[in-house]
Amino acid sequence: MSTTYKRTLVTSALPYANGPVHIGHLAGCYLPSDIFVRYKRSKGEDVMFICGSDEHGVPITIKAKKEGVSPQDVVDKYHKMMGDSFKEFGISFDIYSRTSNKIHHETASDFFKVLYDKGGFTEEITEQYYDEEAKQFLADRYITGTCPKCANPNAYGDQCEKCGSTLSATELIDPKSTLSGAKPVLKETKNWFLPLDKLQPKIQAYLDQHKDWKTNVYGQCKSWLDSGDGLQPRAMTRDLDWGVPVPVKGAEGKVLYVWFDAPIGYISATKELRPNDWELYWKDKETRLIHFIGKDNIVFHCIIFPAMLMEHGDFILADNVPANEFFKFRRR
Ligand SMILES: [Zn+2]
Repeated sequence: MSTTYKRTLVTSALPYANGPVHIGHLAGCYLPSDIFVRYKRSKGEDVMFICGSDEHGVPITIKAKKEGVSPQDVVDKYHKMMGDSFKEFGISFDIYSRTSNKIHHETASDFFKVLYDKGGFTEEITEQYYDEEAKQFLADRYITGTCPKCANPNAYGDQCEKCGSTLSATELIDPKSTLSGAKPVLKETKNWFLPLDKLQPKIQAYLDQHKDWKTNVYGQCKSWLDSGDGLQPRAMTRDLDWGVPVPVKGAEGKVLYVWFDAPIGYISATKELRPNDWELYWKDKETRLIHFIGKDNIVFHCIIFPAMLMEHGDFILADNVPANEFFKFRRR
């Protein structure tokens, strides 16, 4: 597309706050975005550079349990460590925020409510493993058992790291809760799903406008859209006690799925930095939005987050999503 833009909003993938930043991430995502932003600044262009720590989700709660500390302790430690590393490397973010901030919780919660009020979710009751001793539902990573494909006795509820198979927790033989060691029981639970199947035509139309994206990015999106039955509804809430609480009656003990709340972190960080004119960067057609990401995040940035923004309404969508080590830009 040959639009001219007045300003550019650059986001860099929010690193997950359960370990230090790796050199691969720096080379693949943060350095390229920093170079791009510095180039724009040197030309006197209006550019904003957003990043922060992704601080919710199951792996952080597992790490906290293992270390006998709270999830907040874990993210406090790594948020500081990562923030310091970026400073030392000279990555010139305009803000390095974090998703455990109050402003992010409010923004993500409001975003969910807008979609909910518009009927943007479907409710589904599914059976999930529950630990009767620990009295909580078990996310996939909280369940281990024997892999049905290769008989590895230490497979997780979402995948076997020995043979690489993607699994669902109910496929594991002799499942065990990693919290108590107990045999989990199946129990019904309600969650809210984004009906990506119904949204597929809109997502398709959006991607059709961006055939100029890098081949690995566009190709991966196409393969999702073109696979068997196409896109499938995806749960945007989880039975977990760490994250942004689902702001709906009857959703006690549930939080927003980390992949729902994390990309909203770009919006809340912009709000935090520019409380008075953040909307200019997210809602004005003359803003060019670019997400720099790692290649494992393509689906979330090119399909799920745009679908969320479309369903919410008012927001612009990414004009480009460069992923991984090689990238190329045309001058606009
Ligand atoms: Zn296996």
